[in-house]
Amino acid sequence: MATGRNVTLPQGIHLGQAGARGGEPAVRAESVFELRDVSVTYGDFTAVRDVSFDVPRNEITALIGPSGCGKSTMLRCLNRMNDLIPGAAVHGRITYHGHDLYGPDVDAVEVRRRIGMVFQKANPFPKSIYDNVAFGPRLDGKKKGLDDVVERALQQAALWDEVKSNLKGSALALSGGQQQRLCIARAIAVQPDVVLMDEPCSALDPIATLRIEDLMRDLRDDYTIVIVTHNMQQAARVSDWTAFLTVNVDDTSGSRTGELVEFDRTERIFTQASDPRTEGYITGRFG
Ligand code: ADP
Repeated sequence: MATGRNVTLPQGIHLGQAGARGGEPAVRAESVFELRDVSVTYGDFTAVRDVSFDVPRNEITALIGPSGCGKSTMLRCLNRMNDLIPGAAVHGRITYHGHDLYGPDVDAVEVRRRIGMVFQKANPFPKSIYDNVAFGPRLDGKKKGLDDVVERALQQAALWDEVKSNLKGSALALSGGQQQRLCIARAIAVQPDVVLMDEPCSALDPIATLRIEDLMRDLRDDYTIVIVTHNMQQAARVSDWTAFLTVNVDDTSGSRTGELVEFDRTERIFTQASDPRTEGYITGRFG
């Protein structure tokens, strides 16, 4: 929740060019997030335990793994959405551009403005296309130049050509795939630094899915993207880095806890995984 205190996150983060493409860079890109021994509990229940990995800037990081391993829980840690869930607690350390994301002076509302989120099911507001995209900038107090902001966001979300003659039309009249691209436009209209996507294509048909995947690849030059997907082909197609999580079942208590098995370049995860559980999951042998 908002603390009302000053924000200590760095202002005006420079969004530079993406790092090397294809092949393995000798040096990993600068990290936006660093997670160290992160565990998340819901009351007495430990949903995920001791997760550590870095999220590189201007790249796409996919979180994959069987249902219930904590993918969405981990994603929500990155913009403090878990703060909104009663009983949820995040342990360990998460830094954002080197700053403690859960530090006492950090305003969680500002965090969510910098780190936008797109959900599984498109959730446009029952307003016009224009008003959906202008919503965040208006909240930020922007009055002048809104038309340009809306156009740019819709262009970036690859939706402009389809809606430019109907900006006052209802967002709810768009197709599912268009609504999801509208939600992406709404998320990027406030010029966030990071876009989190929680299974953004799971309600879409294959053609709409491929459009969103193309869009993600385009957006990568301007944003850092973290995506949760249960679709392994999608992770292989779009992501640069993959975190594979699994569920560890305790033999005596039967409790199920998510854990990170490995984090690596996506091409390595899919071709030379270092843990047999990863290969087993990817090849469909379990999970
Ligand atoms: P995934 O996204 O990999 O399917 P989730 O992050 O949704 O996994 O869930 C991880 C575990 O945490 C599951 O056991 C789930 O039931 C539990 N969980 C998720 N959200 C809540 C919540 N709000 N309250 C209690 N338990 C939750």
